[in-house]
Amino acid sequence: MKKILVSACLLGYECRYDAKSKTCPKVLALAEDKDTVLIPVCPEQLGGLPTPRVPSERQRTKDGETRSITRPGAVLAKDGKDVTANYRKGAEIATEIARLNDIDMAVLKAGSPSCGKDIIYDGSFTGAKAKGDGVTTEMLKQAGFKVLSDEEL
Ligand code: SF4
Repeated sequence: MKKILVSACLLGYECRYDAKSKTCPKVLALAEDKDTVLIPVCPEQLGGLPTPRVPSERQRTKDGETRSITRPGAVLAKDGKDVTANYRKGAEIATEIARLNDIDMAVLKAGSPSCGKDIIYDGSFTGAKAKGDGVTTEMLKQAGFKVLSDEEL
């Protein structure tokens, strides 16, 4: 039996900042596979943030430098509030769930400041992206878990 941690929004949970889902047909197909167990998590909700919520981005520039207005890798909401602690807490809980369930891999939502992998929004709230992982993806990778984005599935 394969165990996969999955971003809840990919399974149809309306947990995104705008209270919508981002249902992924390939993830739904995995849910139909009798040899696979999916473990849905929404790290932003686990970190105590409400739904809907103000959108947030990790603060990076395109060349990877930290913006002068923030700490490295900090997560700021569009209204300027520092929500880094919520993101870290959600990442810690998601990683603990991954450990407790001894998952085989994680499939997480591309681009998100929590769940994004390799390329995420750059902190400018302009739609621009930069190299980097979301906070949960970074923590899962550091813990040794394999992570794929929904786009890589
Ligand atoms: Fe989806 Fe992850 Fe954002 Fe939650 S934190 S809405 S699971 S991308």
